[in-house]
Amino acid sequence: MIEGRDPELIKEIIELGGHDLLKCYQCGTCIADCPTGLSETPLSAKRLIHIIKLGLREKLLEEETPWVCVTCGGCEERCPREAEPFEIVLAVRRWQCKEDDTYVPLVLGEIFSHGHTQNVLNPIRKELGLPEIRTVANNEEALRKFREMIKETNVYKKYSYIFREE
Ligand code: SF4
Repeated sequence: MIEGRDPELIKEIIELGGHDLLKCYQCGTCIADCPTGLSETPLSAKRLIHIIKLGLREKLLEEETPWVCVTCGGCEERCPREAEPFEIVLAVRRWQCKEDDTYVPLVLGEIFSHGHTQNVLNPIRKELGLPEIRTVANNEEALRKFREMIKETNVYKKYSYIFREE
């Protein structure tokens, strides 16, 4: 059976940070050279945006790919429409956690350890010839505060065994 389409989904993602979602014209440039192309479940911001525009809530909730993003920011710099695909990916993560409060992303433990899904942000940016950016991964104090925040959540209290400070 085909899932019902919910036009509200676009608004929800925009409110959660995907402000330029409607600028996307599905060219696919954001996929080209995305480092997750090497993974078993490559991320496609283009595909996520398509799902959102179709209003397919269940399909979007099933997507694990927003969590494999290595946050290199390359898609933002390549997008010809300045649709800010990386921000849309982050908005989808927020939306998934909000949509289902029992949702536990598989990579949560890694985010807790490094502040990112994979701690390869700046090495990848360097390979792409992009300048280093400051994030929780290279800021000890920010990473400590981030972990303190996570420790306050019910997910941490319930599944503390998946979290490790490295
Ligand atoms: Fe193209 Fe930008 Fe849309 Fe990606 S987000 S498909 S690069 S317009």
